[in-house]
Order: sequence, then C-alpha cells, then structure tokens
Amino acid sequence: MKDNPQQDGSLPEGLHADTLAIRAGHRRTDEQEHSEPIFPTSSFVYASAAEAASKFADDGLGNVYSRFTNPSVQTFEGRLAALEGGEACVATASGMAAIMSMVLGLLEAGDEIVASRSLFGSTISLLSKYFGKFGITTHFVELADSEAWRAAMTPKTKLLFAETPSNPLSEIADIAALSELAHAHGAWLAIDNCFCTPALMQPLAHGADVVIHSATKYLDGQGRAVGGAVVGSSALIREVHGVVRTCGPCMSPFNAWIFTKGLETLGLRMRAHCDNALALAQWLEAHSAVARVYYSGLASHPQHELAARQQRGFGAVVGVEVKGGRDAAWSVIDATRLLSITGNLGDLKTTITHPATTTHGRLSETQRADAGIHEGLIRIAVGLEHIDDIKNDLARGLDVL
Ligand SMILES: *Cc1c(COP(=O)(O)O)cnc(C)c1O
Repeated sequence: MKDNPQQDGSLPEGLHADTLAIRAGHRRTDEQEHSEPIFPTSSFVYASAAEAASKFADDGLGNVYSRFTNPSVQTFEGRLAALEGGEACVATASGMAAIMSMVLGLLEAGDEIVASRSLFGSTISLLSKYFGKFGITTHFVELADSEAWRAAMTPKTKLLFAETPSNPLSEIADIAALSELAHAHGAWLAIDNCFCTPALMQPLAHGADVVIHSATKYLDGQGRAVGGAVVGSSALIREVHGVVRTCGPCMSPFNAWIFTKGLETLGLRMRAHCDNALALAQWLEAHSAVARVYYSGLASHPQHELAARQQRGFGAVVGVEVKGGRDAAWSVIDATRLLSITGNLGDLKTTITHPATTTHGRLSETQRADAGIHEGLIRIAVGLEHIDDIKNDLARGLDVL
C-alpha cells in the first residue's frame, strides 16, 4: 500500500498528469539512481533487534517482507494513486486479484452487490460463482438502465460495480449518477477503469469510491506482464491491503517495475490509441460491408455526449458488426495478415476477435442476443501501428464481402 506522493508532500502541488506519470512515486535511494530501481528481494534486514521490533510494530512503515512491503511495488502504487487522484493504492497479482481483494476487504457474508451485466467474463464468474459460495449475492443489471440499478438496491447492498466503456459494445456508465445512488444507500461504487485508464478518465473525480485496474492492459501497454491494482481513500485501501498482506495475491517487484515504466508513456500512448481508434471507427462506419460500428467517439453513438463529458478520450476498443453474420465476420478475421487474432487488448499491437465464439462463447444464444453480441460482431482493440496499415489489413476481408 502506498500513499499518493502529491498528498504526502514529496512533489510540488498541481502537477499535470503527464508529469506525475514520469515523476510520482519514486523515492531515490542512497545510490542516487535516476531511473526507478527493481528490488528483487523477499525480505529486508535490520541493524538491531530493537529496529526489527519497531518495523514489525510500525504497521505500513518500513520494509519487512515483499508480500506487503516492497519499494518497487510502492513506486508503482504511488504513481498510479497520483494519476487516479486517489489517496492510496494497493497493487495485486492480476486484475482479477484486485477485484477479489476489494470484495474480500470491504464486504462480508450477507452483503449484496449490484453489478453491470456488461463485465469482463471472469469478473462475472468471480462474483456469482465464487463469492456466491460464501454468501455474497450479486444482482446483474443493464449498464445504461438507471431504473434497473435502482430496483436492484436492497438494505443489504454494499457495493455497486461497473466497467465503462463496456466491452465490446462501448456502453457508458454514468459514474456521477451511480455514485449518487450508491451513497444514498450507504454503499460504495467501484469502477473498473481498464479501458480508459486515468489518462482518459478519473472515476474518483466523478464520485466513485474505488478504482480497479487490470495493469495487464494499457498500464503496461506492451503486453509484457499480468498485474492489477485498487485505488481509493486511505481507509478503504487499508482494508484491501490487509487482504493482500494476509491472503498473498501480491504483485512481484519485477512486474511492478514494468508497470511503473509503462505508466511513463501512458498519456502519449492513450492519445495515440484514441486517434487511431476514432479514425478507424469513422472509416469502418462509411464502409458498405459494415452494418454498425460501436464506438463512443462516434456522433452516432447513443451515449456520445455522456462519454464526451465524462472522458478525455474515447478509448481504443471498437466493435464492428459486418453484414452477413458469422461467416462474414470470420472471413474478415481470417483475411488479416497483420492484426493479431487474440482475445487480449491494451497492447501496441492491434488485436481482433469474434466475441460470439470466444470471449462470450460460454453464454447461451439468448443470453448473447440479450447482451447484443451478434454473430456478425468483431472486436478490434486498436493498437499503434500506422492507421493505413490497420485499415488495409481489414479492407482485405471487408472489400470482398
Ligand atoms: C483483463 C480484464 C480484467 C482482468 O484482468 P487480469 O489482469 O487479466 O486478471 C478485468 N477487467 C477488465 C475490464 C479486463 O479487461
């Protein structure tokens, strides 16, 4: 767990996000290193028995053991807390470990969660199957249906949880409205900020209490490591850190260093991702083989104005429905020679996938139809290759439909 360095006085006030991404969180050692070091050590030593006793007693201060105190991990935590505008952050082994640790830390048996139906598949399993076993019930509702959220609230509701923009249809959650609903019922709002990252949106500034990250995606941005994080107030993060410390889903120092260096270019990369994605979405929308494009940056998107108000950019995941159903979608995917056919996203390399038979393949046909995942839908996570090369790779399949 690491506090926000802008708030602990180690950096000047009022720095811009691009500066924090490069400067925040690094406490230089006696070696006077310029770049952030990696501390691959499981434990730390003391000058005396008395010092050891004081470090163990001094909860949260001083290095003890890398399951809960490691300087490389704390550099990443401090930097991400600063970018999200949160008081504190705890890093975890993966995005799933972040969600698990948050729920273990903040909820107990008998509590209820209201969550968006449009969540990452493993998140739905974690909440319904695994937390369900231990007496925490989750009600799933339509992301954009505020009446459904309201109707699902009970006196036991402790947590509201959503991803925005959603995957792969780019639906937008109104964070301020959800936060108002949560707080009126004495519940917390957690937002999975994987798709926007703090470079495009700070959920805490819109009223969320907790931000979840899969660092695996854009925070690294280059597809090198799996990790996650939880950001929020010091009081909430203390509870989540207690889970990580005791249950052990901690981030390794080496992965923390990768994510720290990834954050340095986050703003640059996200702006470039957004530029490429918008250009591609506009080009796809004008193509005669395309039935519909799902991207909140397009004026045709039903929630374009909400996205423009809440975000500084529209992200880089584009859903495109081609005419001709599954055969047409598969032929476009199979005609690519550059794009990677994979379910992952948040990489410099553009990826392409067919949600109905991969990420959403385990749903029944009706569930898929309800979720709007049609057979002709293709998801493109737009990377940073030259936009003309991405278009040409897709045109190979689209132009012959
Ligand atoms: C990938 C992802 C996760 C899970 O993260 P891992 O690092 O793979 O555990 C959670 N939420 C969203 C939105 C994701 O895309």
